[in-house]
Amino acid sequence: MDTLARVLYIDLARKRYWVENRPELFEENIGGTGVAIKLLSEEVSSKTDPLGPENVIVFAVGPLNGVFPMASKTVAMFKSPLTGNLGESHAGGRSGVAIRLAGYGAIVLRGASDIPIYVAVHGDRVYFRNAKTLWGMRSSHTVGRIIREVEPGSGIRSIMRIGIAGENLVRYACVVTETYRHFGRLGLGAVFGSKKLKAFVISGKKSIPVKEKTLYRKLYDEIYRKAVETAAMKKYHDLGTAMNIRVLNKIKALPTRNLQQSFFENADKVSGENLAEEYLGRRVSCAHCPVACIHLAAVTIPYEDEPYFKQTIFVSYDYEPIYSLGTMLGINDPTDMLLLIDKVDVYGLDAMSTGVVLAWLTEAYERGLVSKDDTLGLEPRWGDAETYMKIIENIAYQRGELYAALAKGVKYASEKYGGKEYALQFGGLEMAGYHTGPLGHLGLLLGSRHSHLDMAGYSFDQKNLGKNVYGKEYVEKLLEEEEWRQVLTSLVVCLFSRGIYTPETVSKALKVLGQEHEVEELFSIGQKIHREKLKFKIINGFDIDKLIIPDRIFEVPSPHGYIDKEKFMKIICYYKELVNYRELISSVKE
Ligand code: SF4
Repeated sequence: MDTLARVLYIDLARKRYWVENRPELFEENIGGTGVAIKLLSEEVSSKTDPLGPENVIVFAVGPLNGVFPMASKTVAMFKSPLTGNLGESHAGGRSGVAIRLAGYGAIVLRGASDIPIYVAVHGDRVYFRNAKTLWGMRSSHTVGRIIREVEPGSGIRSIMRIGIAGENLVRYACVVTETYRHFGRLGLGAVFGSKKLKAFVISGKKSIPVKEKTLYRKLYDEIYRKAVETAAMKKYHDLGTAMNIRVLNKIKALPTRNLQQSFFENADKVSGENLAEEYLGRRVSCAHCPVACIHLAAVTIPYEDEPYFKQTIFVSYDYEPIYSLGTMLGINDPTDMLLLIDKVDVYGLDAMSTGVVLAWLTEAYERGLVSKDDTLGLEPRWGDAETYMKIIENIAYQRGELYAALAKGVKYASEKYGGKEYALQFGGLEMAGYHTGPLGHLGLLLGSRHSHLDMAGYSFDQKNLGKNVYGKEYVEKLLEEEEWRQVLTSLVVCLFSRGIYTPETVSKALKVLGQEHEVEELFSIGQKIHREKLKFKIINGFDIDKLIIPDRIFEVPSPHGYIDKEKFMKIICYYKELVNYRELISSVKE
């Protein structure tokens, strides 16, 4: 029997759990994003406090998880403590396959525990374990190691846990999964912390039925071969996303020193090429993925109390942390940058948000908006990794008024201290690393998660260099792309494999599993899911007309020159027209 339609409900307050069969939910919404937005909408309202017990955490997987290669992701949805609105974050590791093989399509975590706990799900059984001894532990890595020792399921389990930042409700705390993957964005770690949930462990050994076995074998081989034998995924394997550093620097799209520049004079030092040559120690993969795009740098550092002995730590790097904790802070030394990346991992912070917050602080300090008294004696300076290390710790522990404000995100901090013009946030979420042009910023502003991965505007900008990209037809394409991505994240496949999972391949893959969906129908499901998310956001206070656009993006040249503000406002209007924004608002009010 296919267990995808089973939703596991866990009540953290009462320490109870039960399963509901929801076949219609999965038939209509595929899985992943489509199912998660429905479940989230059932559970929370506009009045729900993101850090109150009434907020929920939804994990959802889809029909392709555990069945096809690169279908390795899990969707998490919650109300975000950072934006007060839709929280959606995706992670790989073993999570997607583990949830599927444990026998569930989705999991809903309700309520809050009165004492620190971690939850372990092993197949049909759910255990509520006391986590008092893990609470307050300095490193999220150590927490993972201890849980590995005591929980069964080695090799097939997923261990999701928070660090100090999540415990202390830093609004952009992340959840670390299998050490090198993260539910990074929008503050899932703080929601875990508010529920006194230190970790969530899951494993299972169920099997997944396949209807058309011969077709399955054929299609599986086809997808697998494309992943390992063609150019489609090679770049992710070879250098990983870090390859983008040189590419974006060359076209002047790489945000540097809080986007005071769009190129970094020392980009070569922190480039994917240099990191591969000087530091690459291992490549690892998410479960059921042959690509191995996760690059681990081997960094040798002396022990604190014995400088003659050295230890080697592995630090996972990608384009985004290199941008946020490297170029945005003007860090020239790759070892310093890797240690900053490790630091945010130890405390369980989102690397992108942390880097943008630090960059804003540095500029605000230079301009005299915050004083040495505010910073508790520290002097943030571009390139000074040692001071940034101390600041990160102060944020994780929320020491003093300034650090407590920084722990609420750059939007909040700039509203309190000034400097909104250069607080690089979109819809309350700190910016991703692309100053590629108007479409990239439109994607961040209007994409449903405010992530560069929603609409792919950054990619459209790069593919259309030299063209006038302010036309309605580009907005149309962006929206279509975002709608299609809802299908991919409902299946749930890794977005890196979007070139392989074409609409035709997706339709065939679902057929193998006994689900008939023509390509057209898939597109309309994607559109429906996208509108559901937009409606959720409107209900929870999202208003396109009230979004703050940081002036900085208009002041620094992009590969499309200076972004024209008037034309940018016009493409926002095209978007509103295309999604029938007015109608959506009235349908929500009815
Ligand atoms: S391509 Fe990379 S991120 Fe995507 S599933 Fe494979 S290893 Fe994970």
